[in-house]
Amino acid sequence: MPDAPIDTDALVLFGASGDLAKKKIFPSIYRLEERQRLNGMPIVGVASSPWDDPTMRSYVKESIEAKHPTDPAVWSALEPRLTYCSGDYRQDDIYGQLADHLQGREHPLFYLAIPPVLFEEVVEGLARHNLVEGAKVVVEKPFGRDRKSARELNDVLHRHFPEQSIFRIDHYLGKDAIENILVFRFANTLLEPVWNRNFIAKIEVTIAEDFGTAGRAKYYDTAGALRDIMQNHMLEIVALLAMEPPVSSTGDALRDEKVKVYRQIRTFDPNRVVRGQYRGYIDEPGVEYGSDTETFVALQFEIDSWRWSGVPWLVRTGKNMPVSATEAVVEFNRPPRIFFAGDTTGTSPSNHLRFRLGADPGINLQLSAKTSGDRLATHPVDLEVTQDALFGDSEEPYERLLEDAMEGDMRRFGRADATDEQWRIVQQVVDHPSPVQLYEQGTWGPQAAIEMGQLYGGWHDPKRE
Ligand code: NDP
Repeated sequence: MPDAPIDTDALVLFGASGDLAKKKIFPSIYRLEERQRLNGMPIVGVASSPWDDPTMRSYVKESIEAKHPTDPAVWSALEPRLTYCSGDYRQDDIYGQLADHLQGREHPLFYLAIPPVLFEEVVEGLARHNLVEGAKVVVEKPFGRDRKSARELNDVLHRHFPEQSIFRIDHYLGKDAIENILVFRFANTLLEPVWNRNFIAKIEVTIAEDFGTAGRAKYYDTAGALRDIMQNHMLEIVALLAMEPPVSSTGDALRDEKVKVYRQIRTFDPNRVVRGQYRGYIDEPGVEYGSDTETFVALQFEIDSWRWSGVPWLVRTGKNMPVSATEAVVEFNRPPRIFFAGDTTGTSPSNHLRFRLGADPGINLQLSAKTSGDRLATHPVDLEVTQDALFGDSEEPYERLLEDAMEGDMRRFGRADATDEQWRIVQQVVDHPSPVQLYEQGTWGPQAAIEMGQLYGGWHDPKRE
């Protein structure tokens, strides 16, 4: 497909000196320049560090070079367009400076890669300086701390931006492997007839990291696994696995179907949730004394619909797990007893479809095949698709999402009603958390989570990525 036109004529990055800008956003800006998708637009960094334009330029260059080598021609086209505004977002002066940088620009994109407590301050500052008309705004996660604060944030944004100019980022939605869930489901006729409660025994999703807070304990301690992963990334994956086919390819058709899935999920029951904390977490710098923030959460729920009624969904996410992996496993019903001549057991394991959604994306379909020899015994075998081997390196999620936002393509972004439903689903657990249970680092969480899985035949542990 040809690239869609971009009407954005300036990119403004609030949080230019921050971690996310350095690790993800600047390298993505470079890739877009390399693909000639920035149309010569200026890129303005805004933060409180007392930098000038040359400091910002060398910082950007370093951040790009940490990812990949720079082509001198691409860099020399990009460099002079990088400028910087220094100041405090809570003071009016910075918006005046920014207005000067944006003279003659009609459609800026404001990317808010900043602490969420400052979203309102920045949006109001932009509005006071008449910078919001014709503009778009990208808002980083977390989108609120609970349903109430997410609604308040939506109100702030809607005061100055129409919904179609608001881009709520969840970078999982920019990943090929995640989108492949949709393609795999709806582009393969053989799957659709079996994608329901008549054939599927259960669905599991695991988002695991084999490391801890990685220097971000101060932020993490205010969030925890439920807010950091479950409310957003996990529910997005569940929606893609569970939704009905969208009626068209427009942004709203896809998002309508996701919202329908969310409406069919009852508020998570705190009695079917296990919260865990890895041993040693409370001693980390940045963690509050006696913190009961969960670094692991596992839960079980159902989706009340004709397609899914009675199918258990088991989901878990945690830090300091045995491996890093993001996987969804669809387990089909066991075949009935087989009466081949010579087979002594008469049983065969159930088929599994495993979506590998993390660092080594792909799909495994586990089927049963005959073992060698004259006995008709069965053995599980894997049919495997490895995405990178087949299709090569994909775009970075942030590159894709930034380009989408500049084009005004909303498909891969959260909508106000969807985030509201996501918060409704997790709200009871946020309000009435069970006590955290300690677990050893390098294990699959507290014993209670393992036992919860055993009620449904046990968890499928992911392979190392
Ligand atoms: P950092 O703390 O590293 O960066 C915050 C940025 O905001 C800095 O540029 C800082 O400027 C600026 N800033 C903070 N307060 C002010 C202020 N009062 N006035 C002016 N500038 C200010 O945060 P991250 O980059 O890690 O995160 C940014 C956002 O992205 C957050 O919402 C986070 O949840 C989200 N996010 C981050 C991820 C990551 O991997 N880092 C992943 C996913 C989401 P200065 O340092 O110059 O003071």
